[in-house]
Amino acid sequence: AQQQFASIRDLPAQARCGTTISLHMNAGLMADLPSLAGSGAEGVGLFRTELQFLIRNQMPKRSELSALYSRVLDSAKGKRVAFRTLDIGSDKVLPYMKPTDEPNPALGWRAIRVGLDKPGVLRMQLQALLRGAKGRPLTVMFPFIAQYEEFAAARNELDKAIAREERLGHQLPASIEVGAMVETPSMAFAPKRFFDEVEFVSIGGNDLKQFFYAADRENERVRRRYDTLNISFLSLIERIVERCNESGTPLSFCGEDAGRPVEAICFAAIGVRTLSMRPASIGPVKSLIRKVNLEEIATLIRHARDSGATTVRPAIMEYLKGIS
Ligand code: PEP
Ligand code: MG
Repeated sequence: AQQQFASIRDLPAQARCGTTISLHMNAGLMADLPSLAGSGAEGVGLFRTELQFLIRNQMPKRSELSALYSRVLDSAKGKRVAFRTLDIGSDKVLPYMKPTDEPNPALGWRAIRVGLDKPGVLRMQLQALLRGAKGRPLTVMFPFIAQYEEFAAARNELDKAIAREERLGHQLPASIEVGAMVETPSMAFAPKRFFDEVEFVSIGGNDLKQFFYAADRENERVRRRYDTLNISFLSLIERIVERCNESGTPLSFCGEDAGRPVEAICFAAIGVRTLSMRPASIGPVKSLIRKVNLEEIATLIRHARDSGATTVRPAIMEYLKGIS
């Protein structure tokens, strides 16, 4: 099967209607980086930095981190890497941190909430990223932003880190792009200034879906109960697309669903132009995108909704039977 996808590795994910979707990969370890060339991904849409913290038994030093980030950028050979700042708490617990006894960790003190309340580690990480860039362009994204103020505060931490590096006479990245992960439904209704100020938005679909349906992503009993292709969830994604378009803000989707070909073509059809997924999914997703007309899929989705359907899946599966 991989061979079948190798033939399209260097071809664009261009649909029959002419629209091209940008496909990126998710990563978290140095060992993932060789897949960047092998998979045909345009860049790393999500680099989960917490894995480096999780595989150690003590807090990594700033110098270790900056050396690592530098090596990641070396291996990426000029392709964009979106470094997500530490996303710990909930399902990702650091062995060397005092565990917090929370009844609902997924709704608890995690990700940017920890980063803002106890900013020592976030500051150290931002400094490591700024130094690791060694004058190259840097992309940073903040996880689990649930309200505008959290983004503003996180960005302020980054601005302070930049100013500090400047004061110390250190080289700054050639450019710095700052994004936010949208993983709670609240952000679809965020004030316009959020979409105006953020330089890109990345939908963390795993968490977004978990919170939209109030269904634990780790709980097999409830996880599969709610379909991504339900009209309600697609409408939420559509709203985020509209909010981003209104402000001219680039949007990507980086949850597991981006790597599922049928889901991926539906996201693309409703206007998500960048998808980030595990490297092995790039071939299958690209292959299906190249076979379909996204305008036709958008029409199917509209019709399904107008006719009162609860899900678009049957209509899409029917459409797919008709293509080769
Ligand atoms: C997500 O929530 O969809 C996401 C990409 O982040 P993670 O899976 O690491 O929580
Ligand atoms: Mg997440």
